[in-house]
Amino acid sequence: MSQTPIYKRILLKLSGEALMGEDSYGINRATVERIVAEVKEVAELGVQIAVVIGGGNIFRGVAPAAAGMDRATADYMGMLATVMNAMALQDAMRQQGLVSRVQSALTIQQVAEPYIRPKAIQYLEEGKVVIFGAGTGNPFFTTDTAAALRGMEMNADIVMKATKVDGVYTDDPKKNPDAVRYSKLTFDEAISKNLKVMDATALALCRDQNMNIRVFSIFKAGALKRVVLGEDEGTLVHC
Ligand code: UDP
Repeated sequence: MSQTPIYKRILLKLSGEALMGEDSYGINRATVERIVAEVKEVAELGVQIAVVIGGGNIFRGVAPAAAGMDRATADYMGMLATVMNAMALQDAMRQQGLVSRVQSALTIQQVAEPYIRPKAIQYLEEGKVVIFGAGTGNPFFTTDTAAALRGMEMNADIVMKATKVDGVYTDDPKKNPDAVRYSKLTFDEAISKNLKVMDATALALCRDQNMNIRVFSIFKAGALKRVVLGEDEGTLVHC
């Protein structure tokens, strides 16, 4: 198989859940190290990588932990959780010799640089991984939407949505053994069939801007690299 990547620049969306591994919350160090090793392999192919990290493993604005709270306050807490994940990810990258920068959509300048688009693009061009924390910086949004937004701002070739499942299925494969994985899917199909790709805001944004999404499993060893090499892995959601 060719080792030539089909993408020059990708936006990788990692959910907070991806960092949990088998734990029920928080950051599982071994899992983070394994994900970083996969990201490093792809970086070594010359692919420029921007990451949007979620925060659901620590705090979710619409979760029971936030019940009774003012929604915007809970969402700001969720965004701060993503910054913690970004820091954990950066630290694991540093330990594996992968140079990265964290940019936060909320200013917390002792901890992370603020989001500055041209600077982020410059880092990518220099071969550094850029990790975007704090989502869009706005409550009532999700990190899926941040991934769509930053993907477009970075002029990424594709948004890679890393999940626990290896693509989009006709039904929940855990509950229905007859569920079939889509290899390809249009945005309109995904929206009309209410398939779980990304939330509706993120999907609509990607559709309007012709930004394709590849859904794949981060728990399947080597899947990220296979996607980048153009192999049939996960599901491509396209216009
Ligand atoms: N969040 C937000 N605005 C954003 C991104 C995230 O308010 O632009 C908050 C929201 O409360 C969300 C939490 O941060 O529930 C964690 O993000 P998300 O649920 O997208 O993380 P993931 O599911 O990817 O782990």
